[in-house]
Amino acid sequence: MIPYGKQDISQADIDAVLDVLRSDFLTQGPKVPEFEAKVAGHVGSRHALAVNSATSALHIACLALGLGPGDWLWTSPVTFVASANCGLYCGAKVDFVDIDPKTYNLCPVALAAKLEEAEAEDRLPKIVVAVHLCGQPCDMSQLHKLSQRYGFRIIEDASHAIGGKYKGEFIGSGRFSDITVFSFHPVKIVTTAEGGMALTNDDDLASRMDLLRSHGITRDPNLMTRKSDGPWYYQQIDLGFNYRMTELQAALGVSQMERLNVFVARRHELARRYDELLANLPVTTPWQHPDSYSGLHLYVVRLRLDKINKSHRDVFESLRDQGIGVNLHYIPVHTQPYYEAMGFRSHDFPEAMAYYREAISLPMFQGMTDEQQDQVLRALELALT
Ligand SMILES: *Cc1c(COP(=O)(O)O)cnc(C)c1O
Repeated sequence: MIPYGKQDISQADIDAVLDVLRSDFLTQGPKVPEFEAKVAGHVGSRHALAVNSATSALHIACLALGLGPGDWLWTSPVTFVASANCGLYCGAKVDFVDIDPKTYNLCPVALAAKLEEAEAEDRLPKIVVAVHLCGQPCDMSQLHKLSQRYGFRIIEDASHAIGGKYKGEFIGSGRFSDITVFSFHPVKIVTTAEGGMALTNDDDLASRMDLLRSHGITRDPNLMTRKSDGPWYYQQIDLGFNYRMTELQAALGVSQMERLNVFVARRHELARRYDELLANLPVTTPWQHPDSYSGLHLYVVRLRLDKINKSHRDVFESLRDQGIGVNLHYIPVHTQPYYEAMGFRSHDFPEAMAYYREAISLPMFQGMTDEQQDQVLRALELALT
């Protein structure tokens, strides 16, 4: 089976992890800050906080921004459930904004319209989570403008987008948002097995997230409410979690970051090749905004169901039967039973549903060969006829 995504592990990666196993620290040693500095330096962010998953990063990002009961968090319905669940963890309410049919990202026009309505009804969101689907950045300058007008904060869920750029700057620079989150799950672009990171240019947000990832405990005398009792002393000043990343994960991350540019460049080669190979098939290939450079976590095609005599499911099953590990990113979150129970109906977000009826993620990973890609093409040709 050719998978839709796969990690790329080198001998240098393996050696980096083994070195940690032989060292004094398996957790809370020097590798985590080294990894943070490496990612922050690469993308041009002031602070980076490594955690055990992007899901944890989204949670502490929402808490640091003050999200709580009575507040609203809005995001795209076409995303992994974690982009919305983070709002529920904080006791906030979640709503969605339909996608742009061209980029499949949260549509800025739909957002503007929904904000206008929400303002009239006094239920404006506190946070909008902008998901860079497949690695293509959202229209961040437009989102930023709206955030200034309506007073909401922006979290970029850049789980698909490390190494990508928006208007010439790396995603994660924080130019148009408060906090950016990366995921290092093995199917993503860079991996630490499990892992995530929250980046910000704001000192206070960084300090809050630092507390929240480790029980709300500090050893910094400047943050303490009273004088230290002695060298053993620490204080719990907030209710945090154990969301820390291990040294093993961070060492893998440092080593992987050395090849980030190579990884993304190879993904772009594969995407260009797919664009050419699929040009005459009844599918819509991804549209790339000229202002941006995608991280290209995913390569999603939409079937032209008007031009074929097969159903979406037929094509999907045929590809799987032929050993192509295609996938579907994503089942619109508002149709999940847990969200349906909150009153969402599938027709609430028609563009998201239209996408769901046609989308297929083709294999896309840095270690993929041209021969494997040719195999995907042949299988797709057969599946469509
Ligand atoms: C993978 C992913 C997450 C969650 O990442 P984890 O590191 O697995 O917690 C969140 N949002 C999006 C868009 C993702 O693709």
